[in-house]
Amino acid sequence: MSEEYASDHEHEVSAEYLYPADADVLDIYERDGTLYVDVATVCPECSDTLALSASVESVRGVDVDLPLDDDYYD
Ligand SMILES: [Zn+2]
Repeated sequence: MSEEYASDHEHEVSAEYLYPADADVLDIYERDGTLYVDVATVCPECSDTLALSASVESVRGVDVDLPLDDDYYD
């Protein structure tokens, strides 16, 4: 296992095969003073649904309206 994150899934996930349009936010929460985001996405190899947990490192304003429409991903 060479990946830098902890995983209990048999396949390594790479950004090369992950697409925002296939992902959705599961949860946003705070733990020990750190903000976390859980994102559900699909494993490119076996199509199982995976939850990716990420700690928030920055917050900035962005010029988009929510919910994102399909044009955003083009
Ligand atoms: Zn998999």
